[in-house]
Amino acid sequence: MFIAIDGVDGAGKTTQAELLFKRLKGGKRILTREPTKTDMGAIIRDFLAGHEDLNLRTMQLLFVADRSEHVDKVIEPKLKEGYTVITDRYLFSTIAYGMASGIDKEWLIALNSKFPMPDITIILDIDPKVALKRVDGRKNGKEIFEELEFQKRVHDAYMELKSSYKNYFIIDASKSEKEVSEQINRIVGKHYP
Ligand code: ADP
Ligand code: MG
Repeated sequence: MFIAIDGVDGAGKTTQAELLFKRLKGGKRILTREPTKTDMGAIIRDFLAGHEDLNLRTMQLLFVADRSEHVDKVIEPKLKEGYTVITDRYLFSTIAYGMASGIDKEWLIALNSKFPMPDITIILDIDPKVALKRVDGRKNGKEIFEELEFQKRVHDAYMELKSSYKNYFIIDASKSEKEVSEQINRIVGKHYP
């Protein structure tokens, strides 16, 4: 089983990915994330921190390159070995953040068309204003995408993508961690009892 958790900054992806990982204890499973911890991931994080001046299209190409390695080195091998793979962000991030940056949607979709599709994609739906408040205190400083107007466009893009993908579940992430987690468990349980 391959599960992706996605959504705007501060939606609760990392929190929920960890809760789901714990919930699936007993089975073979891994929790992974994008951008990855590789050198490519490091360039991306430099850019996100505002230290690297790249145009936004170049940036999305780097995210896709990072994903290509992630799929090849982690996701596909682990799925083949029978693991459940949970990823904290996946190709939906490139498409939604890319669209919010004014990049052509079809081009973004095409760039990501050769990657394996998750069995379940969970989109955490929340008002970006509330989500940004949650991450206000994050200690590493503000990242370049963490602006309200931008995050609103990212949010709208995630909603719009529902018509392009199967098994794409939009859930209310404004609720408590426990309630959000219960919604996710229900979806995962229904599809993979
Ligand atoms: P993301 O990975 O989507 O950016 P995080 O999981 O890091 O989001 O959560 C951002 C912040 O919000 C964290 O401080 C986390 O503890 C808090 N948080 C996560 N889920 C909830 C929730 N359902 N309600 C309130 N706060 C939450
Ligand atoms: Mg996170």
